[in-house]
Amino acid sequence: MTIITRLTQETINRIAAGEVIERPAAAVKELVENALDAGATRIDIAIEGGGIARISVIDNGSGIAQAQLPLAIERHATSKLRDDALIHITTLGFRGEALPSIGAAARLTLTSRPAHQDSAARITVEGGVISRVSPIAAPFGTSAEVTDLFFATPARRKFLRSIGAETAACSDIVRDLALAAPAVGFAFRVDGKTQFDLPPQDRRARLAALIGHDDAAQLIPIDTGESPLTITGFIGPASLTRAAARHNHITVNGRPVRDPMLRMAVRLAYREVIPPGRHPIAALWLNLAHDQLDVNVHPAKSELRFAEADAVRSTLIRTIRAALASPATSQAAPSLRYYQPARPSMALQRGFAEREIATGFDLPAPALRPITPAPDSSPYPLGAPIAQIFDTYILALAADDTLILVDQHAAHERLTEERLRRERDQSGIARHALLSPIPVDLPAPDIDRLLVAAPDLAQLGLDLESFGPGAVLVRAIPAALDRANPAALIRDIADSLADHGSAVALTARLDAVLIRMACHRSIRAGRRLTAEEMSALLRAMEATPRAQTCPHGRPTVLRLSRDALERMFGRAGL
Ligand code: ADP
Ligand code: MG
Repeated sequence: MTIITRLTQETINRIAAGEVIERPAAAVKELVENALDAGATRIDIAIEGGGIARISVIDNGSGIAQAQLPLAIERHATSKLRDDALIHITTLGFRGEALPSIGAAARLTLTSRPAHQDSAARITVEGGVISRVSPIAAPFGTSAEVTDLFFATPARRKFLRSIGAETAACSDIVRDLALAAPAVGFAFRVDGKTQFDLPPQDRRARLAALIGHDDAAQLIPIDTGESPLTITGFIGPASLTRAAARHNHITVNGRPVRDPMLRMAVRLAYREVIPPGRHPIAALWLNLAHDQLDVNVHPAKSELRFAEADAVRSTLIRTIRAALASPATSQAAPSLRYYQPARPSMALQRGFAEREIATGFDLPAPALRPITPAPDSSPYPLGAPIAQIFDTYILALAADDTLILVDQHAAHERLTEERLRRERDQSGIARHALLSPIPVDLPAPDIDRLLVAAPDLAQLGLDLESFGPGAVLVRAIPAALDRANPAALIRDIADSLADHGSAVALTARLDAVLIRMACHRSIRAGRRLTAEEMSALLRAMEATPRAQTCPHGRPTVLRLSRDALERMFGRAGL
């Protein structure tokens, strides 16, 4: 016979705490949303130790009356929900869950003073235990201070990533919020250091302050005008990409969201115009009727459900593509911006090299290192190397008068990857036993993931085992990577396993590991190569199928034929 009992309120709160506040960034988000809901015009945010040690959010909003303070930290108590059908939700909060959840997991001190109240009052919750309300001197507005997050829910604490990763997540959330509400002044401090301190601004100025003025100057404005789905904001041109998707800010009806469907739509819109592995910049504000949107689908309110999801997705994609294709935008980057000697390689990547050379921009002496004497014409498809440029690209000349440029790192990465794959498929990847095994310390979740994957990693030539609570011991690495730093390699593989979580099929995860490994062995961009090394690389590329792109899909080789040159100089047909 089973016996059904009611959970205590304390247990209920702890369970909910795990859903609503899954990491420090979620607590930051809830506290800042409360400040915005309170009509603040200035919000000061500070975190310490990744937000685990301390989070402080101070606002100048409407405040909480002394008599209401105990209610504010009670579950399902809210001043916001006027619509029991949950349709017309205009505030960021509405469930009355954030403060009690934070109070159940941490030590929370709430100090508040509404405009009509002579002095402020304070209440404290520690692991769900509530103190009495006491008067205290404080300015108008509300201050929420959270310390020792998850001290009362150690299971949750175990799943946190490194302090650095938690800090980055908090910082991403604060940026999203600062963009969603540019008219509100925002200051953000990390471990005592000011990250930004922004006055009330318009959207473009706020964006520029957050992503940098250079990049912001190139952005393309978007404005669909009034329609059932209004989309406004800014997107980056295809030439302006970043290595991470951090600058993909979407605000829906004033609510900053990280909604997978919307993010995927942005990626799709750019798919054909930016290289794989790169991410566009976008800051978009979507507005639609409240009954077209359900915000109550995710405990952290970061995902949405649209009544007409397909229409939203296709409108978003179409709008971005149209903006990317409009003639005005292909001229968007004023050429003057490129005459900055400090960033010659950036300019080259963006295809403006001609202008710099034409204006007499001097290449710094070591940028081009010719091979002397110049080699004879070469029978090989990728030709003979004639110089190394920026210590990064090999310039070669083929017998048919084609100029060849090879990205040495990307090309070598592909060669290493192919070698590892070949070994794996034939005889198994050869391992190189370390003379003295190397301990690598890592956060617990990373160790767990590595140990779970250990039998599969062994197939890839990587032997590791458990080594006390905070470390793994590396005994062997693939022979092809004998010059790699084992600790850096293991940390990267741990990241790769975290990125490609268990939801992804094992083969896909191991493929990602293999590609990461290849990167570790490869010749770095920035390394000087001898003429022999350059030739060897070109010859190995000719012998390797798929050598035309790197494992991430970027090209490894660019070609400029004599015909193409003559056309560009207007000599063709003379
Ligand atoms: P919700 O935001 O969903 O209502 P919370 O637990 O976040 O739930 O907050 C509970 C209540 O406490 C809010 O409804 C609001 O009345 C009050 N409150 C919380 N933070 C603030 C703040 N910074 N300024 C004014 N009132 C606040
Ligand atoms: Mg709230």
